[in-house]
Amino acid sequence: MALASSSRLAPTTYSLDFIREMPKADLHLHLDGSLRMESLIDMAKRVNVKLPADTVEGLKEQVFKPTYANLGEYLNGFQYTCAVLRDLVNLERAAFELAEDNLAEGVNYIEVRFAPQLLMDPANGVGFDDVMHAVNNGLLRAKQAYNRRSDVGLSPGLKPPFEYGIINCAMRMFGKKGFSPYYTQLFSLLSDHDEISVIKAAAMEMIRASVRMRDEDNLPIVGLDIAGQENGYPAHRFKEVYEYAHQNFLLKTVHAGEAYGAESIFEALTLCYADRLGHGYSLFSPELIEDPAITDKEAYSTHLASFIADRRIAIEVCLTSNLQTNPTIGDIKNHNFRHMLDNRIVTVICTDNRLVSSTTLSDEYKLALDNFPIPLKRLKDMVAYGFKKNFFPGNYIKKRAYAKHSLEYFDTIARKYGFI
Ligand SMILES: [Zn+2]
Repeated sequence: MALASSSRLAPTTYSLDFIREMPKADLHLHLDGSLRMESLIDMAKRVNVKLPADTVEGLKEQVFKPTYANLGEYLNGFQYTCAVLRDLVNLERAAFELAEDNLAEGVNYIEVRFAPQLLMDPANGVGFDDVMHAVNNGLLRAKQAYNRRSDVGLSPGLKPPFEYGIINCAMRMFGKKGFSPYYTQLFSLLSDHDEISVIKAAAMEMIRASVRMRDEDNLPIVGLDIAGQENGYPAHRFKEVYEYAHQNFLLKTVHAGEAYGAESIFEALTLCYADRLGHGYSLFSPELIEDPAITDKEAYSTHLASFIADRRIAIEVCLTSNLQTNPTIGDIKNHNFRHMLDNRIVTVICTDNRLVSSTTLSDEYKLALDNFPIPLKRLKDMVAYGFKKNFFPGNYIKKRAYAKHSLEYFDTIARKYGFI
C-alpha cells in the first residue's frame, strides 16, 4: 500500500506527441489574445495599424513576452490585436486560423470568446452583426473543410469532427476614451449618465443582440462571460445581464477569482447563475477575501470549495496565464491547481490566450501533467470534462454522442501509446 500511494504521487510521464494526438477541448480561449504573430504583423499592414515592432522577434521582445511584470503588462498587447481585428477581413481570418491552429494539435472542440463591442467600429461599417458573422464565417469555413476529410467522423476509429461555440463577453469596465470606437461613442452619446450606467447599458445591449442573433441568424452563440478588471467592478452589478441570459437559456461563465477574493466566486455562482468559472484561482487563497462580513476566511473557502466540487461546477484552469498575470505565484508547483485536484474539483485545462501567453493547449496539458500527479484515469476525466461541461451548440443527445465518440477516440490514442 505504501508503494502504491507513493507511486500515485509521482507525476506520470506523458509525451508531447501523445498529448497532441489525444482529443481535447479548450473552453477558455480569447480570440483577440490568440492570433498568430505573423498574421498580426500582416493584418496590421493591411489596416495601417502601427505595431511596436514589425518582426516576430521584435514583438516577442517588446509585447508578447514569456513572462510579464504584472497584469497591466500582460494586457498591453490587446490594444494592437483589437485594433487590427476591427476589420472584417482580418477578423474572419483570425477566427479561421484559430480553428486551424487548434485542429493542428488535436483540439477538436473550442469555445471562442471575445467582447464584440471591443471589435466594433460603427462609423466604418463594422457593427455588432458584422462582427459576429465574420467570426462565425471563419470558424465555419475551418469546420467544413476539416469535417469533409475521410478520416474524420463519428464512426468508430475516426477522428472526432470539429465543433465550436461562441461565448460573448461583456466588459466589466471601459474608459471614456480608447477602449474601442463603440465604447467611446457610447460615452459621448450618454454624456449625462454616470460611468457604471453606461457600462451596464452596453452589457445589456450586447446580451440582447446575442440572443437575437442566436435565434434569428442561427449563430452558435452559446454563452455569456464577463471580463475585465474585477476590483471595483463586482459581477453583481451585472446581475440583470446574467438574468437575461439565464432566462433565454444562454449558458454562463464568469471571470471570477482571477485577481480578487473568493467572495467574487460566490457572487458569480449565486447572483450570476454561473455554469462554469473562469480561473477561480482565489478559491484556495482565503487571505485574499476582503468582505468584512466574512470573519472566518478559512472556513468560508473550505465550504465554498466543497460546494463547487459537490455541484460539479467546472473551473476553467489557465496555468501559464495565471503565472504570468500573478507573478507572486512563482513556481508552477505553488499554483492552486494542486488544491483543486486534492479537493476533487472539476477542472478543464484551457489556454486563455495563445498569443499573449505564448502557449498551446498541448503545452498547458504538458505543464499540468509534468508537475502534478495525474494518472491516466484522472487525465481521461479531465479531458472528459471538456466535452461534458462545455456549452455545446446542439441538443443534449448530439452533445452526448459527440462526447462519447471523443472519449472512445481518447482510448484509441491511449492504446496506441501503450497506456492501456
Ligand atoms: Zn480569460
